Amino acid sequence: MTPASECQPSRFPTIARIVTTIGPASDSLEMVTRLITLGARVFRFNCSHGTFEEHERRLKVVRQAAENLDRPIAVMADLPGPKIRCGKVPDPGFMLEVGQDVLFSNSIDVAEWREESGRRVAVFPTTYPKLTEEVDVGQRVLLNDGAVRMLVVDKSEGQVLCRVTVGGLISSGKGINLPETNLSAPAVGEHDWEICQWAVANHFDFIAMSFVRRVDEIESLRARLEGICSVDRDGAEHDGSRIPIVAKVEKPQAVENIEGIAKAADVVMVARGDLGVEMDIAQTPVAQKRIIEACKDAGTPVIVATQMLETMIEASIPTRAEASDVANAVFDGADAVMLSGETAVGAHPDLVVDTMTRIIQVAEGHMAELPQRSSPPRFFLEQRYRVAAIAHGTWHIAQDFGAELIVCWSQKGNTARFLSQNRFTIPIVAYSSDARYTRRMALLGGVSPFHRPPPESVPAFIRMVEDDLIASGWARPGSRIVILGGEPFGHSKVTSSIIAHIVREPGS
Ligand code: PGA
Ligand code: MN
Repeated sequence: MTPASECQPSRFPTIARIVTTIGPASDSLEMVTRLITLGARVFRFNCSHGTFEEHERRLKVVRQAAENLDRPIAVMADLPGPKIRCGKVPDPGFMLEVGQDVLFSNSIDVAEWREESGRRVAVFPTTYPKLTEEVDVGQRVLLNDGAVRMLVVDKSEGQVLCRVTVGGLISSGKGINLPETNLSAPAVGEHDWEICQWAVANHFDFIAMSFVRRVDEIESLRARLEGICSVDRDGAEHDGSRIPIVAKVEKPQAVENIEGIAKAADVVMVARGDLGVEMDIAQTPVAQKRIIEACKDAGTPVIVATQMLETMIEASIPTRAEASDVANAVFDGADAVMLSGETAVGAHPDLVVDTMTRIIQVAEGHMAELPQRSSPPRFFLEQRYRVAAIAHGTWHIAQDFGAELIVCWSQKGNTARFLSQNRFTIPIVAYSSDARYTRRMALLGGVSPFHRPPPESVPAFIRMVEDDLIASGWARPGSRIVILGGEPFGHSKVTSSIIAHIVREPGS
């Protein structure tokens, strides 16, 4: 851990949000509290690892920390999806050499070495028996995030023979990517659906869907979730609101279908870990830009993920390239940037979040100096929604008034979302009396949510805003802010007025 003086909480909210993956390195109440204070707004639960009991314990910790700090913090359940893995491999793993023969076989449970016609063959079980049917001769099989590579040279009933082109060590459970194979595995398998039901029952705020290929996969998960979200475990009716879906773009097919996926998903993640294995690595920076552009056009929030500060899993400072990567994601217009192993298993999760916040702050400071232009999504002005029009107008008022903050009451998050889509370079503070919608807003670029009971009137709202902003140090008497609201507070679709306001002395 660094000296405390280098890990001071940031005074002013950043525009880009931080998603952190929780894991053994970051699941104490003390650490989660620090991560939130330093800038973490969404905690990702990677359901490829760990048990439900473990996740539930961590969930309690995150909720406790959020409550203690009076901050709306969202939790995301990330489904494994159709990720294929090799099965059990005896320790310390098998070292594969270039030219080596490797057999994937459905008839063994633990990897073994065999001698066949004078050649040493490494034989592996897999978690996906259909692999032996669905791959074809000539296709690539990539293990351990593409570090070890091979080509299929032969196949027969229940087994596939490959030849290694890039060698390395393979230990138990390493991932297998088949970039050229059309897998029949569903996007949401049986185990994924079990996790979805668990996530809904435990009131998760987002479900992330791995290895999405097509729009219909998102639509079908949405329909299934609607079925279970309307009634909770005790039979109590909800208001029918479904849990938002994060589509993880990590297959070349998804990049090809990105316009549709950006419209269909509630949130998109540029999942560069698997994307960089499934695609030529040289293509991924351009894919990232294309995905972010498509999301901006559709008005869908987008997260840039994986290896952002990877070396900080061990090191106390990032590489120059990593610092630039985080800043460039901000320049590209990402709503959020994500930490994976850095916070789940790294040596100092708090230092990583602090470093990320500082890089974001400087990048955004630079962006604020550039000529500003309002850039709402393309469809935005065609909709003629009252709130969309007010959000767009607010951008101009904030510019001309020199506002430091935008504040709105946004009961179900719509006003906050429309404001966020305009990509302000100043923070947006959004209020709701609905805890669930308040937490969901924590992922929107620029938006810092507050959970409060609905005020009686516009003057009462202004008083509440002044108290909260002064208490959090985000405004002082004399600060210029723009406030959006509409009566009755506590209802959705009522935003109707814009107030250009100068914060008063407390009690005046
Ligand atoms: P993962 O997804 O960490 O769940 O694999 C992110 C990615 O692939 O980048
Ligand atoms: Mn992935």
